[in-house]
Amino acid sequence: MARIAVIGAGMGAMATAARLAVAGHRVTVYERSGTFGGAVGWYERDGFAFDTGPGLLHLPAVYRDLFVKTGKRSLEDCVDMAQANPAVRHVLPRHGLDVTLPGASHGGVAAALDGAFGPGSGERWNGVLGRARDVWDATRRPLLEEPLREGARQALGTDPYPAVRRSGLLRRRPPTLAEVAGRELGGPLGEVLTGLVRAYGVDPASAPGSATVLAYMEQTFGSWYVRGGMRALATAVYERCLERKVEFVFGAEVREVLVRDGRAAGLLLADGSERAADSVVCGIDPRLLPTASPSRSPEAVPARGEDVPGRTTLLLALRGARPAGTVHRTLVHSAGAPVTVMRPDDPATRPDGDHEAVTVSAVHGPGTAEPEELLNLAEKAVQGLRERLLWQEVRTPADVEAATGAPGGAVPPPALAGAGGRLLYPGNASAVPGLFRAGGWAHPGGGLAHAGMTGALVSGLIVEGAGFRGSQ
Ligand SMILES: Cc1cc2nc3c(=O)[nH]c(=O)nc-3n(C[C@H](O)[C@H](O)[C@H](O)COP(=O)(O)OP(=O)(O)OC[C@H]3O[C@@H](n4cnc5c(N)ncnc54)[C@H](O)[C@@H]3O)c2cc1C
Repeated sequence: MARIAVIGAGMGAMATAARLAVAGHRVTVYERSGTFGGAVGWYERDGFAFDTGPGLLHLPAVYRDLFVKTGKRSLEDCVDMAQANPAVRHVLPRHGLDVTLPGASHGGVAAALDGAFGPGSGERWNGVLGRARDVWDATRRPLLEEPLREGARQALGTDPYPAVRRSGLLRRRPPTLAEVAGRELGGPLGEVLTGLVRAYGVDPASAPGSATVLAYMEQTFGSWYVRGGMRALATAVYERCLERKVEFVFGAEVREVLVRDGRAAGLLLADGSERAADSVVCGIDPRLLPTASPSRSPEAVPARGEDVPGRTTLLLALRGARPAGTVHRTLVHSAGAPVTVMRPDDPATRPDGDHEAVTVSAVHGPGTAEPEELLNLAEKAVQGLRERLLWQEVRTPADVEAATGAPGGAVPPPALAGAGGRLLYPGNASAVPGLFRAGGWAHPGGGLAHAGMTGALVSGLIVEGAGFRGSQ
């Protein structure tokens, strides 16, 4: 039994902690704040309640696997999870278009797109998603299920998206996601794709075609909501950790990883005290800890960070009932980042049936709309929004930084293949023996599902050693 110190109680760190405890290790999580979950927050006021972080989960299999591997009760036994169906509504005010797409049905999606954008649109969309499936098939293991190896890093730098060749043109470089959207979808349908990718904090003008895999994952595996809010998922993972005897120390800010005789030996806390450990898992942005920083790694991988945007979120308390048939998630597309409007049908989020809680968010960056403009865009999705508004709470990137510690409140998107490896993250094993990286700033990147995967990768590396090749 080894003593393992985990830094931060975010979702990736807790997923790692639970798995390591099951493997027989003595695991202690050091969290600087007074609670667990990091970005997965919950805000309550006057009987209204809101998720302040993610509003939906893609790839629920990641957490199903975590619960199967760490205890008797399945994920579904621990949280009340439902697939959002319809999956998403797209509103394109500039084009006067509005389309609602069903969940996990390629045929249903094609029919809806044909109806909104004209015949042939569904076929073009599913053509792109078919090629995105090739990306998924080619990269699933090296990008998601295996610790990042040096050879794989180089291979993953090449864009696997099989873009449609344009006759008569020399192919100098693989097309960007924006070019794929323009050439293979065109017009407003292309904007649906670029907007969807942009909502992850990925810039379509520089992202590779492989970013189409984000749309493929959503359409294929669905979008899932946890009743009682996504915070309930964080609570379930925390409780699973406690069941497995993981110890949590709250109010414990880690300043540095201690290294003795060339290997990780514990933590230095902000109060000046030291905590000895046999291995350390960094579950926070590694730029915050010089020893975990990727610049110390033999891969010489630049840390992700400067190019990663934050979010602005409005929590809206509305009078009046949520109309029957309201779509859970709407993307209102604009010239800049789209606005995501979440309207969960969940009594836990409102004081009674005569009120509604709505969350509006947009990726923050150059050209991001101000809260007032976000409200204007959200109004395209929620009829009579301003007349119904009782109060609003604005959450800025500074609030996200306070919740996660990530400089600038940056929210890391999932890792993507292509772009010469620029969109990959530092590997889970660091240059310092005994020091590992988990959470959204490590391979395979951010988002609930991807950060959850770091739990399987890091625990595999610690339990099975450097030869670990991913779970079968
Ligand atoms: C507004 C917002 C919207 C999002 N939307 C989505 C979405 O729609 N879909 C999706 O899949 N994902 C979304 N995400 C991302 C997702 O929430 C995260 O990627 C995921 O929760 C994984 O987080 P993590 O493991 O990296 O830990 P984090 O959430 O980053 O938590 C890190 C933890 O470490 C603690 N910590 C930091 N520094 C220290 C230190 N020095 N010592 C001790 N503890 C420390 C922090 O207090 C925090 O608890 C969103 C995030 C935000 C903020």
